[in-house]
Amino acid sequence: MGSMTGRAGLVTGAASGIGRATAIRAAQEGARVVVSDLELAREPGEETVRLIRDAGGEAHFQACDVSRAEDQDALVAFVLERFGALDFAHNNAGIGGGGELLADVEDEDFDRVIAVNLRGVFLGMKRQIRQMLRGGGGSIVNTASNAGLRGVKRLAPYTAAKHGLVGLTKNAAVEYAEDRIRVNAVAPGTIMTGFARGATPERLAQIMKPQAMQRIGEPEEVAAAVVWLLSDDASFVTGVTLPVDAGSVAG
Ligand code: NAD
Repeated sequence: MGSMTGRAGLVTGAASGIGRATAIRAAQEGARVVVSDLELAREPGEETVRLIRDAGGEAHFQACDVSRAEDQDALVAFVLERFGALDFAHNNAGIGGGGELLADVEDEDFDRVIAVNLRGVFLGMKRQIRQMLRGGGGSIVNTASNAGLRGVKRLAPYTAAKHGLVGLTKNAAVEYAEDRIRVNAVAPGTIMTGFARGATPERLAQIMKPQAMQRIGEPEEVAAAVVWLLSDDASFVTGVTLPVDAGSVAG
């Protein structure tokens, strides 16, 4: 029996990268999963579903732009319609930053990153928690970043959003611990996904510098930590932001 047997839940940003790896890993551990991403990522999202079904798991795709409240309503409703319960959620969808120093960041770019990476997590958690209160408990993991724990040059909007996400995670953890809802986050270092693939070699070398292991991580290495936090194996853990970053926080 897997660590997620009998559990039903959702993963946002699951058409690729860390979200796809988490959806697959959770299904391998026995969970029924709603794979969610933007409508424009429906095709790779359906591919995540296919990968899970081909391995004998149960999954469905539901489009959701995490920055839209009505999409978040529909996402929780879809999970309930398919599975009759919402036991876990991985709020993982996120976008990068523009690469400017703070004084050069366009106001609209700041708002856009906050809308997806921070407000999107608030909108999701609010609805997920309401349902988990009705269901008698649950487990939430949010994807923060190394940049949620320290400042990173040329990444001000992203860093601000991810620090906010860490704060929201702590707050939800203390507010709902007695309701049997655990809320944690992971803080990945540089992982080989769409994020890292878009970077120039110079930029990659720069962002990899603090990683003591001196290599780029694989999405599956983050997914393993996420599913551990989601599962009852982490039953005494709430409110933490777990670095999964090749030793960056050690240096
Ligand atoms: P990725 O680009 O492969 O995946 C991000 C997914 O989010 C994509 O499928 C994209 O379509 C989706 N998405 C974007 N905007 C969305 C929205 N408004 N609503 C719903 N879905 C949306 O990259 P990834 O590395 O897997 O990113 C996942 C998370 O990991 C992000 O929150 C990112 O900030 C975080 N992260 C990544 C790294 C890294 O190095 N890859 C490091 C630290 C944190």
